[in-house]
Amino acid sequence: MRYFNGCVFTAGLRKKNDDPNTPTNEELRYIQVEGLIQHLLNNHDLCWKEVCWYKENEELQLQTPTLQSFTEMEIEGFWKMLLTIFKLPIQQSLVTCYRTAYNEAFNRKIL
Ligand SMILES: [Zn+2]
Repeated sequence: MRYFNGCVFTAGLRKKNDDPNTPTNEELRYIQVEGLIQHLLNNHDLCWKEVCWYKENEELQLQTPTLQSFTEMEIEGFWKMLLTIFKLPIQQSLVTCYRTAYNEAFNRKIL
C-alpha cells in the first residue's frame, strides 16, 4: 500500500514542481499496476526511486508480503484487482484517485 500511495504522492509532487518527469494519469496507472506487480516480484526496473528504496539499494531484501510466493493465478487475480481499482474516470485528479474505499479493497486482497 505504501508503494501505491507513494506513486500518487510522487506524481503529485512532481506536478507541483513542474517536474518534466511528471507522469500522465496513464503513466501513473501503469506504474501502479505493472510497476507494483514487478516490484513485488523483486524486479525494480519500472520503479521510481522516490517510491522504491530497492532501486538504489539492491542488497535490501524485499519485505513480505510479496508476490514471490504467489502462483501465476494469484498474481493474475491481483493484477485484475488493481485494474478494477483503476476503473475510474480518467479525468479524476491525482488526489481523488486514492480514497479509503480503494485502500480497503487493496488491503482485503493482500490479507
Ligand atoms: Zn521496486
